[in-house]
Amino acid sequence: MSDAPSYGFDTLQIHAGARPDPATGARQVPIYQTTAYVFRDAEHAAALFNLQEVGYIYSRLTNPTVAALQERMAVLEGGAGAVCCSSGHAAQIMALFPLMGPGCNIVVSTRLYGGSITQFSQTIKRFGWSARFVDFDDLDAIEAAIDDDTRAVFCESIANPGGYITDLDAVAKVADAAGLPLIVDNTSATPYLCRPIEHGATLVVHSMTKFLTGNGTVTGGCVVDSGKFDWAASGKFPSLSEPEPAYHGLKFAETFGPLAFTFHGIAVGLRDLGMTLNPQAAHYTMMGIETLSLRMQRHVENAMRVAGWLETHDAVEGVTYAGLSSSPYNDRVARICPKGAGGLFTVALKGGYDACVKFVDSLEIFSHVANLGDTRSLVIHSASTTHRQLTEEQQVAAGAAPNVVRISIGIEDADDLIADLDQALTKASA
Ligand SMILES: *Cc1c(COP(=O)(O)O)cnc(C)c1O
Repeated sequence: MSDAPSYGFDTLQIHAGARPDPATGARQVPIYQTTAYVFRDAEHAAALFNLQEVGYIYSRLTNPTVAALQERMAVLEGGAGAVCCSSGHAAQIMALFPLMGPGCNIVVSTRLYGGSITQFSQTIKRFGWSARFVDFDDLDAIEAAIDDDTRAVFCESIANPGGYITDLDAVAKVADAAGLPLIVDNTSATPYLCRPIEHGATLVVHSMTKFLTGNGTVTGGCVVDSGKFDWAASGKFPSLSEPEPAYHGLKFAETFGPLAFTFHGIAVGLRDLGMTLNPQAAHYTMMGIETLSLRMQRHVENAMRVAGWLETHDAVEGVTYAGLSSSPYNDRVARICPKGAGGLFTVALKGGYDACVKFVDSLEIFSHVANLGDTRSLVIHSASTTHRQLTEEQQVAAGAAPNVVRISIGIEDADDLIADLDQALTKASA
């Protein structure tokens, strides 16, 4: 599909990156379950190792099944290229690795997936990196947090756990004025609901574990590069703009232009960090993506009904769903994610922490799991699970206060979901 971008989303989610197998004509992308690839001759091998020719060497770096998924992700996000890796958290490290060095920092939103808060506030310190957490509704605060050592601005499009919508255009303007790349985690929205590159994002990261695969079977991650950032302009990104000793002094930005970040991700990131996606997982994810638009439509439809119903329930203090007119983020839906505000939100119960625990334990269709974006409806009490490592102040800032339950609405019958929530709320408030 060389002229792929002219097709609609529903066509691209099935066809982008997938060609009949050149060896067999297989219509579905085969699972290339192989570690290595035979070189035509020594000259071919040398050209591949020098990055003078694009091809397959070893599956830690490249694999045809994974490559098909990478192309599909790049097309769906409107990017120049994409690198897939083993999980969403791996994708975050893969996105930051070429940009950062010891002493560098990132400015990140307080409203993030709990695991991302831990990764950024604790783990990246071991690399000499740090993160500054800022309320991304306060643009002046983002600007004030940026200094000479800042290398990226990071947020989620539809943010965990409350389904808050980030004003990506406004945040991109701040990053742009500072000459910094904006990285957007688009996991909860998916490219069907939101295309961050159209709102100024430089890089888009995904946990493909969630809505993209959609059925709770595998973990996977992806970094999509817009191809639009000038890595050489500021001198702040030497990994991309300066000679790379492991490739005979090649400069990625000069040699690969808009594909510099993608080539670096494969030739250095995957080669040396080894966070590779396996071809089986890539296959499951591509199967999921084929029906992404249909599922997201139903997720949104169900979330609108369930959130609207919950909001009127006596035991409920509030519902955060941005699709509701009561949400302060409602006016961003049409601009940032015009096909809907996703399937993720939180509900605060009047009964506090204890009612939340009882509520979660009483649900029958909803599963209590540390996951989201499944065909199945899922629920989690963040304060006692994913966000339990955080201080109460961090929990509240992240939208995961002790009286808050996060809900990921599946694609079941909305009437059944409402009936299940109703019986559990009755037990929780008894
Ligand atoms: C799940 C998730 C991650 C982490 O992804 P894994 O695949 O679990 O590593 C990152 N960001 C968001 C928004 C997520 O929902």
